[in-house]
Amino acid sequence: MYDAIIIGGGPAGLQAALTLGRMHRRTLLLDSGAYRNGTVRHAHNLLTNDGRDPAELRRLARAEIAAYDTVEIRDAAVSTVEREEDGLIVTIDGGQLRARAVILATGVADELPPIPGLAEHWGDTVANCPFCHGHEFSGRPVAVVNASAHAAALAAMLEPVASEVHVVAPADVRAVSGTDDGLRLELTDGTARDVAGAFVAPTWTVRGEIVDALGLERQESGAVRTDPFGRTSVEGVYAVGDIAQPDHLPGPMFSLAAAIAGGQLAAVAVVQSLVVA
Ligand SMILES: Cc1cc2nc3c(=O)[nH]c(=O)nc-3n(C[C@H](O)[C@H](O)[C@H](O)COP(=O)(O)OP(=O)(O)OC[C@H]3O[C@@H](n4cnc5c(N)ncnc54)[C@H](O)[C@@H]3O)c2cc1C
Repeated sequence: MYDAIIIGGGPAGLQAALTLGRMHRRTLLLDSGAYRNGTVRHAHNLLTNDGRDPAELRRLARAEIAAYDTVEIRDAAVSTVEREEDGLIVTIDGGQLRARAVILATGVADELPPIPGLAEHWGDTVANCPFCHGHEFSGRPVAVVNASAHAAALAAMLEPVASEVHVVAPADVRAVSGTDDGLRLELTDGTARDVAGAFVAPTWTVRGEIVDALGLERQESGAVRTDPFGRTSVEGVYAVGDIAQPDHLPGPMFSLAAAIAGGQLAAVAVVQSLVVA
């Protein structure tokens, strides 16, 4: 019986593992290797790591966690989690594992607008978040490829950063290709626009199989509903990182720093629950 099984080896899960390791709790972290920022080579807006390759962040995190004897990390995918009377059963390919608590840090998956060429540049010159990838386009033109109600606000946020902000409806972009120092948007009217980068609005969905099997309550956004410490509607199950939305926030906070904070708080709550139990 583990004290905690963490499902997910992104920043949320890794931080939870570090915190539980420091409290000498028997912990297993399972990681299927599908990271939301898997195509990103430079992640930003994380103190002391601004611009670091996320793969390097994960490598460093695993190396730090290796110093704590009670934490084990396995590269494995979880198929289901079930609640039983005195804990939880986690099923992986090689069998079943038991834990007093499960921390879900399984993240979300993005579906990009169906524009040919876009996916090849996702995480580099095509991004969704101006806090993460905006400053890199300083003083150069950018495009907001977004027809939603948020497009104007996003454009306004980018105004102090970029030289020009062009708002373009996704339906008006025929294809996207790379240039020496940015992107070319080929428009349906036959013209082209060269920009340093483009901001799109992917459709995100919670990686949901485990969430649904457990019957976890969700927010209107689709994220898992939690309290400020990541506790979900099922006892002993916590959700952190991109997958989770605490009641006091308007949506899930998609960032490395927020994921790390969530992972730490949930691990603290797990330790507390084990002491009380
Ligand atoms: C293109 C892009 C660029 C970004 N750039 C930045 C940036 O510069 N700065 C910033 O702060 N934020 C950035 N973000 C956001 C940031 O990447 C996410 O907020 C963060 O990765 C969320 O961490 P997480 O741990 O919740 O999920 P993830 O990092 O997505 O990790 C999810 C983990 O769960 C595992 N998993 C899923 N299902 C299973 C299963 N069934 N069994 C076992 N393991 C499973 C995965 O393998 C993975 O280990 C970016 C996002 C995108 C899409």
